[in-house]
Amino acid sequence: MRRYSMFAVAREALRYHAGWERAWRSPEPKKRYDVVVVGAGGHGLATAYYLGKVHGITNVAVIEKGWLGGGNTGRNTTIIRSNYLQDASAAIFEKALQLYEGLSQDLNYNVMFSPRGLLMLAQSEHEMRGYKRTVYANALQGVQTEWISRERVKELVPIINLDGPRYPVLGALYQERGGTARHDAVAWGYARGCSAMGMDIIQQCEVTGIRTVNGKVQGIDTTKGAIDCGKLAMVVAGHSGVLAEMAGFRLPLESVALQAWVSEPIKPVIDVVVMANLVHCYISQSDKGELVLGGGIDHCNNFTQRGSWYTLEETTRALVETYPVVSRLKMLRQWGGIVDITGDHSPIISKAPVEGIFVDCGWGTGGFKAIPGSGWAMAELVAKGHSPLAEGFGLNRFREGRFIDESVAAGVAH
Ligand SMILES: Cc1cc2nc3c(=O)[nH]c(=O)nc-3n(C[C@H](O)[C@H](O)[C@H](O)COP(=O)(O)OP(=O)(O)OC[C@H]3O[C@@H](n4cnc5c(N)ncnc54)[C@H](O)[C@@H]3O)c2cc1C
Repeated sequence: MRRYSMFAVAREALRYHAGWERAWRSPEPKKRYDVVVVGAGGHGLATAYYLGKVHGITNVAVIEKGWLGGGNTGRNTTIIRSNYLQDASAAIFEKALQLYEGLSQDLNYNVMFSPRGLLMLAQSEHEMRGYKRTVYANALQGVQTEWISRERVKELVPIINLDGPRYPVLGALYQERGGTARHDAVAWGYARGCSAMGMDIIQQCEVTGIRTVNGKVQGIDTTKGAIDCGKLAMVVAGHSGVLAEMAGFRLPLESVALQAWVSEPIKPVIDVVVMANLVHCYISQSDKGELVLGGGIDHCNNFTQRGSWYTLEETTRALVETYPVVSRLKMLRQWGGIVDITGDHSPIISKAPVEGIFVDCGWGTGGFKAIPGSGWAMAELVAKGHSPLAEGFGLNRFREGRFIDESVAAGVAH
């Protein structure tokens, strides 16, 4: 595959851009692969990419029932940060952030990573104590974060109302290296990288069954026929429970809709990302000028990919009281995704009870930021049978009660 470069753009400009090749191939499935990855979201594609790049395993197919990046990867609000409390979480999210920092160069694809700074507002004494504790924990973990005063918050976010009708802003947990990236580009960049290594990305191909013999995986049945595989990686977010059922085991997950929406485009008003977890809303501004807005999950499990009215109303109330400017804006689009949430609000990167099957799921409302780190760890687990980054996130933690409690970090907002 030809490299993208300034010279390539100049050359193509001279011939009306007629010479660009397709970013990835769309082949028919082969009869057998060493590894089949189900789910062409960011996590599935990153798993395949690092399998090839780091471990030299390239006889790989990524099977996707819709279009690549069309699941949660293309539906999220693109917040990236690594300021988690628990050591295992900080390690994998920091690895992801470090990979994001060089991802455009690594993939030779502009993922528009924008480390514009991220604030998590403290609006109660309890939150303030919690975030200060996170700053201390992050210092020990080697993750740069700081506690900033409410005056500094106002400097960074001039449109904020520090003394809202319900809760005042007391300060914030600030991660200067946090920010956003273009979500589609992350999926497209990994897909292009996988295709360049000779991997097959098979879209419009739903997995309908998983074949096992004597407790070992043999292959999958799909809407494009049967495919055999040596190993199977399930990376299907909100549909993980459905896939697990096909293989005959259960996962401790709940699937629920999470929604987001964008305003009409306006001139730049905010150049950081801000999360307000108590009143529950978050905001950033896209390069096009739209305010990118989101809030909490629906309160009951569902597969609607839409989200409920009451959540929309609750979040809008929180947005308007925190940023009065929002009340003057028209909203352009709203959408939802199905997020997969575990009891301790931490992901699962684990061998499954069926030999040869591996699961990567449970990223809930906060897995976009984790894509490179998760792909790295999952690829290592599939290739070698163990991964230091994935160690704490095994399924056995639910049997043994070794929870990684990140409920404030992963299950509430992003
Ligand atoms: C509205 C919203 C906002 C969010 N905001 C943020 C944020 O700001 N920051 C952040 O870090 N995270 C955020 N998230 C969470 C983040 O989007 C997800 O954790 C992450 O994208 C999950 O990626 P994935 O690759 O695991 O899943 P997905 O991108 O959902 O990919 C899974 C793929 O599996 C495919 N699939 C399912 N079943 C089958 C089958 N039977 N056969 C074949 N293919 C199948 C699906 O079609 C899908 O494409 C948000 C999520 C939503 C919904």
